Amino acid sequence: MPMDQNHQQHQEAWSRGTQVVANYNFEGSSPDDLPFKKGDVLTIVQPTKDPNWYKGKNESGKEGMVPATYVQKRKEVHLQAMPWYHGKIERKMAEDLLHPREDGLFLIRESVNYPGDYTLSVCYQRKVEHYRIIYHKNQMTIDEETYFDNLNQLVEHYQNDADGLCTKLIRALPKKGDSFGAVRIQDFEAGGWVIQKKDLQEIELIGRGEFGDVYKGLYKNQFVAVKQLKDQDRAAQAFLKEASVMTSLRHPNLVQLIGVVLGDTIRLVTEFMGKGNLVEYLRSRGRSVIQKKDQIDFATDTCAAMEYLESKKLVHRDLAARNILINENNTAKVSDFGLAKYGDYSTEGGKFPIKWTAPEALKNNNFSNKSDMWSYGILLWELYSFGRVPYPRIPLADVVMHVEKGYRMEAPEGCPKQIYSLMLRAWNLNPAERPTFKEALQELQNLRSTTV
Ligand code: ADP
Ligand code: MG
Repeated sequence: MPMDQNHQQHQEAWSRGTQVVANYNFEGSSPDDLPFKKGDVLTIVQPTKDPNWYKGKNESGKEGMVPATYVQKRKEVHLQAMPWYHGKIERKMAEDLLHPREDGLFLIRESVNYPGDYTLSVCYQRKVEHYRIIYHKNQMTIDEETYFDNLNQLVEHYQNDADGLCTKLIRALPKKGDSFGAVRIQDFEAGGWVIQKKDLQEIELIGRGEFGDVYKGLYKNQFVAVKQLKDQDRAAQAFLKEASVMTSLRHPNLVQLIGVVLGDTIRLVTEFMGKGNLVEYLRSRGRSVIQKKDQIDFATDTCAAMEYLESKKLVHRDLAARNILINENNTAKVSDFGLAKYGDYSTEGGKFPIKWTAPEALKNNNFSNKSDMWSYGILLWELYSFGRVPYPRIPLADVVMHVEKGYRMEAPEGCPKQIYSLMLRAWNLNPAERPTFKEALQELQNLRSTTV
């Protein structure tokens, strides 16, 4: 505990609205102080004349004095650039790419033979050598002697020293176009996002996701959702990527990341959304419970979150009613950033949400805020048809063909004409002609103000 406050001088000044995380318990010694516990997230209200004290606010809105040396700024976790990472390509392809065959020219790819592992392909004496990188329990190794936390560390190590390989790594062969990123576990620690497992109580299973089970839990007297990673070795990076995207986002209509639990099983802790996902909500309540007002509220909430993502140039890629969650106050929030990414992503592999994805994204991998708008149109259709599956009578394989020939779903029964008009504009084959989320939000807010 930093008893002597002059000991750890606080350097950087924090402005209003900065989020900080408590590193220690603070009981306070005067009524002006704001008591808090290790792990609490506080918001800076304003600096004071003394650089070691700030006026802050806790999550229940209580304000008071906060000693700067007891807290750290909460930081975003960014992906590390990995230009040499080529994703899932075969040995032959790697050999074709690695030209000229100069010593030390290398790339890293996903192993085809050992799913979950990687392969380092490096040129030496006009040949290409392939080394299997074993991935186990968040650690990577080639020789089962030296272990690394991530591929960046591994590359750095073999750039300095061949250490048993045929050659040092000298020059990375950059992947064209796409830039993959990796997440470093330490960055979550440094950014103040790590939650201790003992502080988290799991209550019950509430859902199953692609990466693993979702539990209702209790953390610091607050209900939370805990996503537990099932197949640690395979999905850890994708899972942590989702978490890292979430560290940079804060909006009332985005499901908020609270923190991550590291260790043997990685867990993602988010705010708890008591009424579950929108599709199930619509199907189980139906027309008798859900009113016009609820529908326009859900549509507007979702659009507001999407406008925020659009302003950050972040593409969601998996916008659908199943990924919208509803809380006890009936607020809708966008979740599921598993596919979200700045820039491009591949449609290969994975169960692709064909009925929700814009044609140019399906065919040319051309994802954008405009392809999210297409998906948003489908989501509106789901919302106004009370959770039906889109294109009810068309087989999955034929959807794109019909859509390209001009087929569009009809307006669901009772759907306001302004909403159907928005759907049709969202489904324009030309992405440039679709509305922006900003424009759509304006329309929805107008419509909401006249909906009772
Ligand atoms: P994935 O995208 O990996 O399939 P999801 O994040 O969509 O997983 O979670 C699966 C299900 O778990 C959701 O459909 C929802 O019913 C439930 N769930 C997920 N997150 C929460 C949350 N924050 N609050 C309440 N329920 C949730
Ligand atoms: Mg989901």
